[in-house]
Amino acid sequence: MDTAVQPRIAHLRVNGERLWASLMELAQIGATPKGGVCRLALTELDKQARDRVIGWARDAGLQVTIDQIGNIFMRRAGRNPALPPIMTGSHIDTQPTGGKFDGNYGVLAGLEVVRTLNDHGIETEAPIEVAVWTNEEGSRFVPVMMGSGVFAGAFTLEHAYAATDTEGKSVRAELERIGYIGPQRPGDHPVGAYFEAHIEQGPVLEDHGKTIGVVTGVLGIRWYDCTVTGMEAHAGPTPMALRRDALQVATRLMQEVVACAQRHPPHGRGTVGMVQVHPNSRNVIPGQVKFSIDLRNASDAECERMDADIRAAAARLAAETGLGIDITLVSSYPAQPFHPECTAAVARAAQQLGYSHMPAVSGAGHDAVYLARLAPAGMVFIPCKDGISHNEIESATPEHITAGCNVLLHAMLERAG
Ligand SMILES: [Zn+2]
Repeated sequence: MDTAVQPRIAHLRVNGERLWASLMELAQIGATPKGGVCRLALTELDKQARDRVIGWARDAGLQVTIDQIGNIFMRRAGRNPALPPIMTGSHIDTQPTGGKFDGNYGVLAGLEVVRTLNDHGIETEAPIEVAVWTNEEGSRFVPVMMGSGVFAGAFTLEHAYAATDTEGKSVRAELERIGYIGPQRPGDHPVGAYFEAHIEQGPVLEDHGKTIGVVTGVLGIRWYDCTVTGMEAHAGPTPMALRRDALQVATRLMQEVVACAQRHPPHGRGTVGMVQVHPNSRNVIPGQVKFSIDLRNASDAECERMDADIRAAAARLAAETGLGIDITLVSSYPAQPFHPECTAAVARAAQQLGYSHMPAVSGAGHDAVYLARLAPAGMVFIPCKDGISHNEIESATPEHITAGCNVLLHAMLERAG
């Protein structure tokens, strides 16, 4: 944009009340008695919400296109149509007991950015686009982040189409039924840069009293199955020294999972969430224990070090106790750092707007993770009450909602020119 409009741009602010009103209106589609939203992907309610958002986009003068996996792109033209769009967006499907803000905020914040630019007659060099990604939540159909995953080529359209819900209805059939299979081939759509505004879904910002999280990346994940094998024996006649108690050894290893995360700060996470004891009888010394291990960290190198750490701890315990310990990696997702220029644009916007901010990492997956494979990407986090999400009581303040949208606006303007 030319230098004469620069001071005007610096003072540009979104209309927080309009954004809040849109969020509350969209939340009525699938509203639950407890104040949440149940709007599963590709249901009649999802269709209604899609129709509503597209209606708003048309009112704002946006050009709407839809691809074959049902992703929606709403475009505001730039001065230079040859430039790839600066894109933002998120999802409007929810968990069965979801909230009003998860995903919906990112889409409607994007729409508010466009409405604000319209209000002030501001033209950008690159086009601006707002995307609605299909089935981010993965509640009704697996895999999660389906629309953005197909768009980024993480898996094929055929794979996504074939996914079925518990009633055997396929993604393809349901997309057809609600009228959201578009002509565009997924990914056949350039992206100049991607920003996503989202509630944090964790407690860190609130704990630090900060308004904006400048998201530096999304944690890598390693999932393991662990089996400790000892010997079942009678709880009475077997003296303590002669036992091969799998549960006692397993609980020591579980402690190591937590210790391992603490040895890899600040982003190390270690969780045992699932335990099976065999034979699970009150007067039998457990002969076998199976449990899950979930390790996360901000880089693949750190995930690798945590992997070596927990395996070494298991080897020490096995040598000391003589019990068998097997640790098998069952799935892993690479860490996704965001682009330094996008991260810097978010931090600069927060700084210039006078909002308190801090670097943040995302422990949860987002559509931005897949978009980061295609283009420079970044995310803006705002606090949510008590860090609670995927829950009907999910809550965020109008002040934070507005602040995050202002940061999104200015970060996007920096990239769009
Ligand atoms: Zn989300």
